[in-house]
Amino acid sequence: MKSYFDELQLYLDKGMAFHSALNLYEWDMETQAPKMCQENTSKVIGILSDGYFRYYINVEVEKIIKKLENKKYYEKMNCMEQGIIKELKKMQNQLGNIPLEEYKKFSELCATASNVWARSKEKNEYALFAPTLEMMIEYKKKFMKYRGIKGKNVYSNLLYDYEPGFGEEELDLFFEKIKTEIIPLVKTIIEKHSVLNQKYEQNQSKTNKIPREFQYEIEKQRKFCRYLASYIGFDSNKGVISESAHPFTTSLHNHDVRITNHFNEKYPESAIFSVIHETGHALYEMNIKDEYSQTLLGEGTSMGMHESQSRFWENMIGKKEAFWKPLYPKLQETFPAAFNHISLNEFIKEINQVHAGFIRTEADELTYSLHILIRYEIEKEIFHNEKISMEQLEKMWNEKYQEYLGILPKNASEGILQDIHWACGDFGYFPSYAIGSAIAAQIYVHIKNVMPVEEYLESGNLLPIREYLKEHIHQYGKLKTTKELLMEMMGEEFNPNYYIDYLKEKYSELYL
Ligand code: ZN
Repeated sequence: MKSYFDELQLYLDKGMAFHSALNLYEWDMETQAPKMCQENTSKVIGILSDGYFRYYINVEVEKIIKKLENKKYYEKMNCMEQGIIKELKKMQNQLGNIPLEEYKKFSELCATASNVWARSKEKNEYALFAPTLEMMIEYKKKFMKYRGIKGKNVYSNLLYDYEPGFGEEELDLFFEKIKTEIIPLVKTIIEKHSVLNQKYEQNQSKTNKIPREFQYEIEKQRKFCRYLASYIGFDSNKGVISESAHPFTTSLHNHDVRITNHFNEKYPESAIFSVIHETGHALYEMNIKDEYSQTLLGEGTSMGMHESQSRFWENMIGKKEAFWKPLYPKLQETFPAAFNHISLNEFIKEINQVHAGFIRTEADELTYSLHILIRYEIEKEIFHNEKISMEQLEKMWNEKYQEYLGILPKNASEGILQDIHWACGDFGYFPSYAIGSAIAAQIYVHIKNVMPVEEYLESGNLLPIREYLKEHIHQYGKLKTTKELLMEMMGEEFNPNYYIDYLKEKYSELYL
């Protein structure tokens, strides 16, 4: 006899197929699709998105879920099925109460908002984007009302959407620590080494060794980065690497994970650390258990946990001397004229350099959290203060950069207009980047206690590290929450002190 879950499965499979198609289009638009495709292809994407939601959110599905929630049936389901129901309910909760007409209007606004943002950024005119931003905020507040969430709880719930279990209460404590512990350290380093918003070129004559007058041939960079990805564990039988303006990872299922990279002829480090970062994301997706793949559990459990995996490889592992020991000769071999005269130790110092800059995506490991702190405080203000004007937001942005990093953005492009997130309606997303860094540091400290990390890195044996992450995090997909995974792996909850101590220790040693 067919069970209620079997009935549900028909909808789930179709929804999943639409989801895969959407991901494939997203990938294609960023990598291969011709410029002119946008308008026509957007129509197809619109129809697919509509289909995707209709399969997951409809009266029939609601009825089946109600039946399955009955104790009699619920207890008969296995934990995977129960997990799927939980995810489905979360989706319904987030989208189910929004009238379709309004959701459509919002989707249209999203489609145009990123264009308005891009134009406004190009022209350096915040006033051009401000009215769109205001509408975006209004929609977000309104959608929360449909979910029955009002007032001070709105921002916490936006945060939960990206990072279950991490609302304002937890994040206030976290960012307060960053404020009191990291800002003074950054200030000391800046004062002592005058690294105030110095670009690589300006720094050239002082401490920097990697030559910038050199042309780092793209084809050679590409080859080296491919080698690097597979060295870390990227399986080319289950994934591909392409190129896009901003590197990203997307996954159709655990046997088809796609990452992109970007290249700069002057700064090979940009591609090197991007590919390590995206490989960290890819390993997560590739290692999800077969039975969870292509279900609602078939992706990383939260944005923060995903980001922890990419940052763990990029920063904690990828910027260590032990990691580069077996690899550095290969880089020297690739660009002998540039790297032969630079020792491994000098290379490590340079890739760990701190500088107070305006742009989040170019920030080093230490100042990165301050960029997120600023965005967190502004987003809080947006959702707490009903009367806040768009002009005030820009003012706040600039004042906070001045206060925390000691630099004042000269224009809106290097200020409030630099990120696309708000133009996509992604409020509450930024903190997951900082949570990810903090989780990465916590995992790093733990993993050093359970295995000889240094030794493995020096001998080029990354398998035990990879396997550990797979066993304790990756394989579960969304079945377990971030907090559950951390607890089960280390017997301890999320604890930002590891991150603070890690940063203080690492950068005091490098700079003070
Ligand atoms: Zn990432």
